[in-house]
Amino acid sequence: MFKVDFIIFGQGLAGTSLAHSLDFKNKSYVIIDNCSTETSSFAAAGIYHPISFKRLLLAWKSNLLIPFAEDFYKKIELNLNTKFLKKHSLFRIFSSIEEQNNWYSKIDEPNFKNYISESNKELNNNSINFPYGYGKVSSAGRLNVSKYLLESRAHFIEKKSLRKENFEFSSIKKTNSGFSYKNINCAHLVFCEGQNYVKNPFFNYLPSKPSKGETIVIECDQFPELLINKGCFVYPLSKTNFLVGATYKHNDLSYRKSKEAREELISKLMNIGDFKFKIIQQKAGVRPTTYDRRPIVGNHPKINNMHILNGLGSKGVMFAPYFSNQLLAQIYEGKEIDSDVYVGRYSKKYFQELKQP
Ligand SMILES: Cc1cc2nc3c(=O)[nH]c(=O)nc-3n(C[C@H](O)[C@H](O)[C@H](O)COP(=O)(O)OP(=O)(O)OC[C@H]3O[C@@H](n4cnc5c(N)ncnc54)[C@H](O)[C@@H]3O)c2cc1C
Repeated sequence: MFKVDFIIFGQGLAGTSLAHSLDFKNKSYVIIDNCSTETSSFAAAGIYHPISFKRLLLAWKSNLLIPFAEDFYKKIELNLNTKFLKKHSLFRIFSSIEEQNNWYSKIDEPNFKNYISESNKELNNNSINFPYGYGKVSSAGRLNVSKYLLESRAHFIEKKSLRKENFEFSSIKKTNSGFSYKNINCAHLVFCEGQNYVKNPFFNYLPSKPSKGETIVIECDQFPELLINKGCFVYPLSKTNFLVGATYKHNDLSYRKSKEAREELISKLMNIGDFKFKIIQQKAGVRPTTYDRRPIVGNHPKINNMHILNGLGSKGVMFAPYFSNQLLAQIYEGKEIDSDVYVGRYSKKYFQELKQP
């Protein structure tokens, strides 16, 4: 038997960020993960930005989440001597005169001032259509998620902190000082298993509204090397390769790459401009999304020191660092977890289900 502070189940964006947060606190851990590439994180485009374009609002807590996430990933880049984060401006092409008016009416509002501005020269590219103009968003960027996960995994393996295997829930036993799992004793367990939490016997009472997403990579020599959004995003991976995404579907939760998603993305792309391109890759994944679109963080309603960090939805890049930190602040400093994300918002449901015969 050996002893660690934490066992983390899952090494996606949630588990990886939690493990790095434990490194910052000099706490020990073992991660259990089957190292599948059929996960939400391996499908993620990795884009983050502070705007909810549908109604032109600031995305929830983005003023806190983005600087926190950027500092966090930069710190890890330094520790691992690598690069996976790139800051960008994002160009939003307006779909209507109403959207344009709304944008200009908000530019000088104190909340928006640091995030959106006027723009009129960057997209001067003959292939792009912008009859209603476009605006610029700052504080956006992209985490190369696969690189972040794989380089973190190499770090965890080097520290002997990662075990490649499927979870065996029946091997989790309560002990006087925490838990045992096979030959490991730990004080805390954290489940970071993405959409698979619906199969977790401890947390399957939690509601879930998973959403499948797909992206494509196109080869095109007519698109500018800029991050552009209109109905979908287009992100320059290189001078000629662009990542386009993403779709949202609730009725098909397979990892199958669909013709339907490909056609949806092509149609959105054609709405941005007239290009010749070739599709060279397609990816699919299932986002662990909740009904209220907020993460799920905190201790099990009955079992002390058994925690969950999940429900990152479509914003795993922004959410994972901040809420990993919040979970640890609750465990070590007794600080409250934000009530919007606290797992306790579903405790009533848990106790009601317990009562049912
Ligand atoms: C197409 C697409 C595009 C996206 N684009 C973006 C984006 O641009 N920006 C953004 O912020 N977010 C994006 N997301 C969302 C983002 O991917 C998720 O928020 C995030 O990946 C969730 O991470 P997670 O760690 O909770 O789950 P996962 O990534 O699913 O990680 C769970 C881990 O647990 C392991 N695991 C689960 N069950 C078991 C088991 N029984 N045994 C062993 N191991 C197990 C899995 O192998 C995996 O490693 C996108 C998602 C999709 C699908």
